[in-house]
Amino acid sequence: MNRSRKKQFSEGYVMNFLKRDRETLEKFLPTLDAKLQEIPLMEIEKPGNPGLTILRELEGAGLLVPAEHGGKGATPAEAIQIHRAVATRSPSLAIAMTMHNFSVATLVEYLFYGDYTVELLQQIAGGQLLVASGFAEGRTGTSILDPLMKATPQDGGGYRINGSKKPCSLSNSMHILTASVSVPSNNGNGSRRAVAVVPADAEGITRKPFWSSTVLRGAESEELCLTDVQIADEQLFFPEVEESLDAVEAGGFLWFELLVSASYLGVASALAEKVFTHGRGDIAERMQLAIDLEGAMTSLEGVARAMQTGERGEGILVQSLLVRFAVQQAIERVTVRATELLGGMAFIKTPDVSYLYAAARALAFHPPSRLSVASAIDGYLMGKPMQVA
Ligand SMILES: Cc1cc2nc3c(=O)[nH]c(=O)nc-3n(C[C@H](O)[C@H](O)[C@H](O)COP(=O)(O)OP(=O)(O)OC[C@H]3O[C@@H](n4cnc5c(N)ncnc54)[C@H](O)[C@@H]3O)c2cc1C
Repeated sequence: MNRSRKKQFSEGYVMNFLKRDRETLEKFLPTLDAKLQEIPLMEIEKPGNPGLTILRELEGAGLLVPAEHGGKGATPAEAIQIHRAVATRSPSLAIAMTMHNFSVATLVEYLFYGDYTVELLQQIAGGQLLVASGFAEGRTGTSILDPLMKATPQDGGGYRINGSKKPCSLSNSMHILTASVSVPSNNGNGSRRAVAVVPADAEGITRKPFWSSTVLRGAESEELCLTDVQIADEQLFFPEVEESLDAVEAGGFLWFELLVSASYLGVASALAEKVFTHGRGDIAERMQLAIDLEGAMTSLEGVARAMQTGERGEGILVQSLLVRFAVQQAIERVTVRATELLGGMAFIKTPDVSYLYAAARALAFHPPSRLSVASAIDGYLMGKPMQVA
């Protein structure tokens, strides 16, 4: 039975599973898939791996920069297919790309700010600059929208930033850091939240080891410390409303949920692909993996296509969160079953299976956590405004 199934897989068919995602990747970043595939998983996942260098050589930093500003102008639907495909070869690269691409996409949402944003996007695409996203500060149970990092207004103009961000992916390879900060008001009463854009070589930025987990080390998620870092006025972006997410922040969140979900779905898809290519389990078991994975991907694409028609606001944001948690649950089911179908020897004989299994779990650790937004989503479903901030 097993033998004939294997024969069927070796008769020269090209699998349709993941085919469309890899075709989209090939269209935008030709040869990336082949180049990543040449490197063993445990090598491409190490710190200092060549993934980001290859990505930049293929002009991948401009993936989401609009074509009129020198980028490749991928749409949300194309971007999630690309992220899923990359994650099947290198989970760490897909996560690093998530932080970069979500930051770039948020800058695109800020285009109305004027010349500075346009120049920044042109520099990112032209110079293949990588953008890190520092929101988390390693404080369990606190909102990423309530940062301790401070940007203090200076008498002669500009701001001085102090604080630390951890974990911050791309901490070594970044060229630009975008970071959430709190800005004390001039009269000393209260503070406003904002996003600072800081060149990575600015005086006062140092790095500390932070990431002790054995998975996703290639994403360089270490600690960044900022001490008296100076930025100009135009390098700070304020939201239009304080009480809840403004349109730009909501747009950035939407992009993040899509890209991060697609990336981890790709990690789970890599495990399922092993089941398919080795013909493990029976037909019904394999189909169940595809049902979960493709159902999850199609839901993500639904949100992505709604974004493409210009939909924004709290309705689609809630939809994206519900879909992200559905993806999270699909990944849980798929990875548990796929590892079982691959069997004990596959688990024992190479580190790849246990690595992918553990790496896929980390979607649960990206903001917002399921429990932390449960009350806000419940309230929204019952007719109240969505309270994420
Ligand atoms: C690979 C990887 C790379 C990352 N890179 C970056 C990066 O570059 N930049 C960045 O900003 N962040 C990054 N992060 C995200 C950052 O790590 C997370 O913010 C962090 O993991 C949150 O961990 P926590 O334990 O503080 O979780 P919390 O979100 O605080 O949650 C801890 C637990 O408490 C529960 N909980 C929290 N709030 C509530 C509530 N109100 N009610 C009930 N229960 C609640 C949660 O559900 C969970 O069970 C990255 C994460 C990963 C996994």
